[in-house]
Formats: sequence, structure tokens, C-alpha cells
Amino acid sequence: MMETSNDKLERRLYSHDLAPLPKEMDVLFKTMPDSVVRPKYTQDVVQTVRKALSTNKPIVPRGAGTWGLGGSVPVKGGIVIDMTSMDKILSIDEQNMVVTVQPGITWKSLAEVLDAKGYFLPCYPSSYPAATLGGWIGTGGTGIGAYKYGTAGDIVRDLEVVLPSGQVIHTGDKLVPQNGGGPNLNWLFVGSEGTLGIITEVTMTMFPKPEELRPVSYSFDELTKLGPALKKLVRSGVTPMHIMFSDKLHFDYLRAIGKHAPNVGCLVTCALTGPKAVVDLDEKSLDEIMTANGGKKEPKELADHEWAERSYEFRLREMGVGAIPGEILVPIDRFPAVVEGTRKIVQQLKLKVPIIGTVADQNTVMLMPYYLTDEHKLVASTAAMGFAKRLGDLAYDNGGRAVGLGIFFASNLPKYRGKEGAKLIRDIKKVIDPQEIMNPGKMVETGTRLGFSMPPVLMNFAMQMMGSVKRILPRDKIGEKELASLKDH
Ligand SMILES: Cc1cc2nc3c(=O)[nH]c(=O)nc-3n(C[C@H](O)[C@H](O)[C@H](O)COP(=O)(O)OP(=O)(O)OC[C@H]3O[C@@H](n4cnc5c(N)ncnc54)[C@H](O)[C@@H]3O)c2cc1C
Repeated sequence: MMETSNDKLERRLYSHDLAPLPKEMDVLFKTMPDSVVRPKYTQDVVQTVRKALSTNKPIVPRGAGTWGLGGSVPVKGGIVIDMTSMDKILSIDEQNMVVTVQPGITWKSLAEVLDAKGYFLPCYPSSYPAATLGGWIGTGGTGIGAYKYGTAGDIVRDLEVVLPSGQVIHTGDKLVPQNGGGPNLNWLFVGSEGTLGIITEVTMTMFPKPEELRPVSYSFDELTKLGPALKKLVRSGVTPMHIMFSDKLHFDYLRAIGKHAPNVGCLVTCALTGPKAVVDLDEKSLDEIMTANGGKKEPKELADHEWAERSYEFRLREMGVGAIPGEILVPIDRFPAVVEGTRKIVQQLKLKVPIIGTVADQNTVMLMPYYLTDEHKLVASTAAMGFAKRLGDLAYDNGGRAVGLGIFFASNLPKYRGKEGAKLIRDIKKVIDPQEIMNPGKMVETGTRLGFSMPPVLMNFAMQMMGSVKRILPRDKIGEKELASLKDH
């Protein structure tokens, strides 16, 4: 029996994701769903979609709600479909090395089962203890392992999707990739942010566990100085599974709240995988590249600790405040310029912002600057909008873009894809979802409860203005007391 809830408290819990909106935003958005359902099987999802269709109610797919752009939050009320109740492993095909699961399973649960059988997941988000497979695919996920094995679109073989019509389709072949054989339907749903259909089953590749997984860390005295080392690394033929970095402020904050964190300046950690002899050679090459470019090799214990901490970037939330990340992709060549540009924005908006990130592929760096704030206050969302807008523009001006669209960055679609490209995406949405019930008001438009969508020009102007308001507001003081307690900060 599918669970349904109309309880007010419960519905309130589903009216936000990682970054709650202040209640002032209720004027524009009806974030509180009318009901929450928890399906167990594909047929439950079909039934829910048909009900939404017949009553003309929005339906919003939700995983764990760890994405910060409002993808799983209603803007016009309706039904939230909580997919975490569909969390079964359906089959593990060891002969062909593919696994088929329901989409609400967390990465951690799946990884543990595969680990016991001698396999591992080629790519997973650093939010893997909580995030679901369906949510990650919905956001066009990247993450730990992407540098070597590819992102969501590369590792997904097939998706079962319930369309807004209630029809069920399969987007690929379970055992072979989607090269040729017509347009790639897997990729159509990867990154569609829950606006085209509900993923009810995922088949993806798994890999035998490597003989060796070895993290190695190098410190640099300044984040921008990492640029030349990273450029050299991506040209070197050494392919770590993962490359992640953090600036000094990130570690200072952690130490200030009593966490065990390195006190070595900025740090880059690479996770090498493969046969032991190959990893030995790779480590030697990395040592040469990093030290020739100003890095200092750190002890094994430090690298092991950083690897163990790879999915706990936001421990600062334990201070009882929000940590709101901005996420951008930029060409590797622009890394130092974008770090400098980010710092300028931080100064203008009077924020304190640690910068963490990963090398997404050999051409691209993903930067995730985050700041501490009381996320329930209007001033915080003002800062969030202003900061994210400026950060996205900075990335765009440097040949990159913000990661994801969600509610607030849908206005970027025409900028990123051009007028005609954006129109094609809107047309695809219209063909698949003519009644506009599937997660409306996101990705292709910023919809409101008032029956109109915010025009992109107005949305961009409003977000820019919020940054200007933040400039005249007092400096944020969250975390200052804690930082002051560090003698060497
Ligand atoms: C600490 C931290 C680290 C993170 N690290 C990474 C990272 O390394 N890589 C990365 O890519 N992201 C990362 N993220 C962002 C986020 O955690 C991921 O995008 C995550 O995979 C989202 O999963 P979720 O289950 O929480 O999805 P939700 O937030 O619930 O949903 C995300 C989107 O997917 C849609 N959706 C959810 N389930 C389905 C479904 N079954 N069918 C169709 N659409 C669906 C929703 O409507 C929404 O638009 C991180 C976030 C945090 C807080």
C-alpha cells in the first residue's frame, strides 16, 4: 500500500531542501505541498502521476533534498512524491558488471552492498551518505570518481521513467551503452531536474574494486598557485579517480570548531586507483609534478584523513548555522582568475567564503565556495541570491557556467543555450508534458504561485539588486568569534 500524508508538519518538512527559503518568499512561491506520497513500486508512481494529471495538480519528484537549488521543492504546491521509499536493489549482474536499483536508494547503501561483493561505484556525489541515485541523475550528477570514470550520463546504461502522461518507458539498453541507435534518451533525462518524468529504475555500470586506492596530498601556500600544477597534472597521463582541493580558510573554520583538520595552507588530494605497481608509478609522477610547481607532499596519515572526510565538506553546519554553497564549472585555464574573481565578490558583499572544489575532467574545474549564514533570515537569502548571481556571471565570463538551474537560475537558460536552444528545450518539455504538471516552474522558467513566470531579465535584475542590497548591509559576523580563537589564522 502506498503511503500518503496530508499532515501539516510533515508537509512543511517537504517545503524546503538543503537551503530553505525565508518565509517572505511565500508571496511568490507555494512551497508547501498539498500532500506527500511515498511509492514502493513503479505502478504506485504511475497511479500518482495519473491522479495529478486528472486533477491538474503539479507533481514534484524528490530524493533526499540535498540539492540546494530548490529542484525538489514545489513552487505551486501539489504532490511531492518522495522517492526514498523506492530503495531496493533489484539485481546485481556480476557477469556483465551492471547493477539495477530503485532510484531512492542512497549511494552509501548501494556502495556497502557492492563493496561486500568486491565491486565499487565508479562515480558518486560527495553527499553520498544521504543523496539518492535518482536525485543525482536528475541533477546531471558529477562527483567522486568523475575524473577517471565519467559522470551520470556516462555510467547510466538504462533508466525506467514514468512520463507525465503516466506511460512507462526505458531510455537505454541495460547491457550496452547508448552510442548510436538514435538520439540518446538516457542523456535527455540526466540533468532534467525532475521536469520531464520520474525515474523509477536505474541500471548503471559497476567496477571491480581496484587492488589499490591510495590518496596522496600536497599543500600549497595559496589556492591560485595550484593552477599551474593542475594544468600540468591533466596533461600528464596520470588519471586519479578524484582530485579535490580546499583553501586555508576551509580548514581554519574546521579547526576553529574543534575538528581535526590540516594546518598546512591549501591542500590538493588525489585518489589514485589501480594495480599497486601502477599506483606506485603514478604517485611518483604526481610527486614530481606537484613539487616542481610549488607543492609540498604531506604525510600519508593526512591524505588518508582527507579521503575519509571527502563527504563531510559542510561539517561547519554543526555550528548551528547554514552553509550555502555556490557551484560553478570553469575551464581549467581560468582557475586562478576565477579564484581571484570570487574573492572580489566576497569582499564586495562583505562575506567570508571558504573555497573548495574538484577537478571535474581534464578541461574543467568545479569550484564550490560556501558561506555561513542563518538561512532562515531574509538577509541570508539576499546574500545567497546576490552571491550566486555574481558567481554564475563570473563563471560565464570565463567560459564556464553555474551548475544547475532549479528555481532561481532557470533565467540563465537562454544565456547558456542561446534563444533558439532554450526554445528547443522548452518545446521538448511541452511535447513531453503538455499539461505542465511535472515539477513546473523550474529549469525552463521561474514559475510563481501567482500564475505568471518571472521574465529572465526581471529575475536577473532582482538577483543583481539583492547583491547590491547586501553590499550596504553590515558585514556577516557568523564564525568570526570561532576564527579569532585560532592563534595562527
Ligand atoms: C555536502 C554536499 C555535497 C555534494 N556533492 C555533490 C557532488 O559531489 N556531486 C554532485 O553532483 N552533487 C553534489 N551535491 C548536490 C546534491 O547532493 C546532489 O545533486 C544529490 O545527488 C541530489 O540527490 P538528492 O537525492 O538529494 O536529490 P534531491 O535534492 O531530492 O533532488 C534533486 C533533483 O532531482 C529531482 N529528482 C529527485 N529524484 C528523482 C527521480 N526519482 N526522478 C526524477 N527526478 C528526480 C528533483 O526533482 C530535483 O530536481 C552535494 C550536496 C551537498 C549538500
